[in-house]
Amino acid sequence: MSGSLWILGIGPGGDSLCTPAATEAIAQATDLVGYGPYLALVPATTGQVRHSSDNRQEADRARQALDLAAAGARVAVVSSGDPGIFAMASAVLEQLDADSTAARRWAEVTVQIVPGVTAATATAALVGAPLGHDFCVISLSDVLKPWHIIEGRIDAAAAADFVLAFYNPISKHRPWQLDAAMAIVARHRAPETPVVLGRALSRAEESVRWCPLAQFDSATVDMSTTVIVGSSTTRAFVSASGQEWVYTPRHYPA
Ligand code: SAH
Repeated sequence: MSGSLWILGIGPGGDSLCTPAATEAIAQATDLVGYGPYLALVPATTGQVRHSSDNRQEADRARQALDLAAAGARVAVVSSGDPGIFAMASAVLEQLDADSTAARRWAEVTVQIVPGVTAATATAALVGAPLGHDFCVISLSDVLKPWHIIEGRIDAAAAADFVLAFYNPISKHRPWQLDAAMAIVARHRAPETPVVLGRALSRAEESVRWCPLAQFDSATVDMSTTVIVGSSTTRAFVSASGQEWVYTPRHYPA
């Protein structure tokens, strides 16, 4: 009777950045489970049931998906980007890891994780190759971890000269964290360091641009933006064809 569970990422939004494996899993699923706005990005399939939920109910959503699969459904848990990066794969595995009666009930469910194009690489590709050398991905959300941990990680990563990709940069409930993060970064980086802002990528409202760190303005950033801050070697230039690029060289000075 037990069914299966795909934990998949649809990429940043548009069909072209959703992998064939994720598209195939969605096509085979009887049930889709996910945060409402992400499910809205998946085209409707006849007969498929959609279970959309609030963004803060990850554990409930994971248990619901496992229960549906244990009852025989083919369930796709849908995240944006990659399901293993600040998304549902960990939430489902946390449930499977619990020593509970429910975890034993889910023993027969086949679970498969299908990777996706994450926001940082989608952003990077539109301006060049800012992630071309060592980089670090940090969520600025202090909903699931304390701010002092985030501060410490930004300070250490910036001191170690990583390129930094910030996810969940700002929201109505978290208005000051991005400015605080950039103030830490500014202690370690030159004012001309390129900062790339990728917003609503591969969706209708897509925009991408970059500015020097000194001109960064958090008022231009929202929750659908990924912020990439260069390392000391990240450069912006205009090619002979007139195109503007941002990249981090493969080589690091000796
Ligand atoms: N699993 C997702 C990340 C979820 S966290 C992934 O791998 O991409 C949510 C954050 O991801 C957002 O606050 C934003 O920083 C980033 N993000 C998600 N979709 C995006 C998009 N289409 N364009 C730019 N950034 C995006």
